[in-house]
Amino acid sequence: MTAIVDLRSDTLTQPTVAMRRAMADAVVGDDANGEDPTTKALEEKFAELVGKPAALFTPSGTMANQLIVRVLTKPGTSVVAGRSQHLVAWENGAASINSGVQFHSLDDRDGTVDPDEVSMAAALAEHHQLTPSLVSVEDTHMASGGRVWPLDRLRAVHVAAIAAGLPMHLDGARLFNAAVASSTSGSGSVTAALRERAACATTLMCCMSKGLGAPVGSLLAGPADVIAAARVERQRFGGNMRQSGILAAAGLLALDTHVERLADDHRRALRLAHAVANRWANCIDMVSVQTNLVVFAPPNADAVLAELAAGGVMAGTLAPGVIRLVTHLDVDDANIEQVLSLIG
Ligand SMILES: *Cc1c(COP(=O)(O)O)cnc(C)c1O
Repeated sequence: MTAIVDLRSDTLTQPTVAMRRAMADAVVGDDANGEDPTTKALEEKFAELVGKPAALFTPSGTMANQLIVRVLTKPGTSVVAGRSQHLVAWENGAASINSGVQFHSLDDRDGTVDPDEVSMAAALAEHHQLTPSLVSVEDTHMASGGRVWPLDRLRAVHVAAIAAGLPMHLDGARLFNAAVASSTSGSGSVTAALRERAACATTLMCCMSKGLGAPVGSLLAGPADVIAAARVERQRFGGNMRQSGILAAAGLLALDTHVERLADDHRRALRLAHAVANRWANCIDMVSVQTNLVVFAPPNADAVLAELAAGGVMAGTLAPGVIRLVTHLDVDDANIEQVLSLIG
């Protein structure tokens, strides 16, 4: 029997039985009044995990990004960021509407931005160009195939931001994937890897609702005054959620039980990538396959999508001709075998 294997996104995961139970049992209160103990516990746990003084639970990663742009910029200034970041390309122009900023966008084809270009963006303000107010980077970098920032490079961009007097925001929707990947390739723990990445940014955002498998919610962490200001903006954005502990309980369980297993998603993605590389010459950059995403451009993408669909495999697209496969909590080894039997 053919199962449906849904590789469109890691946002598709269903809450596990244990997660639904934790949600049902959550002790809750009105979080808009600061009275939800489970939401507070998640915020405190996350802040501690990434080594920041404070954290805020938000309905989505997009809102967390938008809150930070709102708090750390002024209208008429720019955010220096990679051209294909979520904040730049996938938020429907939200930063321009919500905060009146524009982007000074930099090349990010390899998943990173060049620290010299960040310095240049700031220096150009002395020459009558737009004044930047924030630097933002993305780790893992989705559009380049879920690449993990080399730590030296991340540090260099942070140094450039500090030298220019600019705060830095890390869109770490999949930062746990980055931390797991870099801790398995290096020697440190996942927590150490998280903290060394978080230390390169003033503020950071992580999604609980992607590879970690929670149904809803993201966390924003940073200095206490910045997070307090983001809390006020969250209310203005309509993002206060009252008994949000029901959602936070899922996030707490995810942090306890779904972090280490991200390595399984990465291993499975690599198997898919090898099969893709064998089937279609030069359609995938194997260097890009570092976490749970497999992005490739086969000769006839529509035919490939149809072939996969006929075999029960759902894939997503990033751009015309560019296919994205995402491994996640609801994809097991048997599912991978099924995809491999189609790719051949
Ligand atoms: C998914 C994603 C977001 C936004 O998260 P939502 O919860 O879907 O709003 C932001 N940045 C990156 C890199 C993402 O992949």
